[in-house]
Amino acid sequence: MAEKKKLAEYNRKRNFSETPEPEGRVGRTRRSGLHFVIQKHAASSLHFDFRLELDGVMKSWAVPKGPSLDSAVKRLAIQVEDHPIDYNTFEGTIPEGEYGGGTVMLWDRGSYTAADDATDPVAELRNGYASGELSFVLHGERLHGAWALIRTRRGAQKQQQWLLVKRRDDDAEPGADVVAEYETSVATGRTMEEIAAGAGERTVRKRATGKRASSKRASSDRAAPKRATSKRVSGKRAASKRPASKR
Ligand code: MN
Repeated sequence: MAEKKKLAEYNRKRNFSETPEPEGRVGRTRRSGLHFVIQKHAASSLHFDFRLELDGVMKSWAVPKGPSLDSAVKRLAIQVEDHPIDYNTFEGTIPEGEYGGGTVMLWDRGSYTAADDATDPVAELRNGYASGELSFVLHGERLHGAWALIRTRRGAQKQQQWLLVKRRDDDAEPGADVVAEYETSVATGRTMEEIAAGAGERTVRKRATGKRASSKRASSDRAAPKRATSKRVSGKRAASKRPASKR
């Protein structure tokens, strides 16, 4: 795909005078230190957006049920349009009526690599993506170890279906419900309700353009308590606590 067309679909779908999401600009192609991010998104239906950096953009999949640590569980992952790398720090609320309207939480983030000790990890990832069997290792704050995305339906249709699976390794956990265990933002410690209400908002790391900074955000930065977000809530299974902001 031509460089300038990479994020054309992302940009076409959004009205940047209405949405706080970043405009799509293709980043540089990195050979190492590739990032991944998972965003919990209470849009018309709740899902988790799984994004892997490759060739200057975030390859993206919408995973309705989110990731599972149980390697026997295969989670449907619907490929969506590439997102800009700048999206990796986006947390907030997309206005109702806009594309993807609803609350977005940064659920996990970190770096990822090709699964094997490949001499050229980026080539390995490109090949895996192109062939529909993408194996990779996550070094996140919540998710770790070997994972795979396996394409189950290819063809001309825009939205291709994949399966997200945890490979068997020491980080696999049969029966675990990691989505229920972590209910707060990995970046700000906020719940979906708090993000929707704009409560305790802290500026998340982003490019130094200051484009979306507001005085409201700046003042609440100081008031926001810093909470530990990386530890798993032991024994907590608050699956019934659904975001009030779900649209
Ligand atoms: Mn989404």
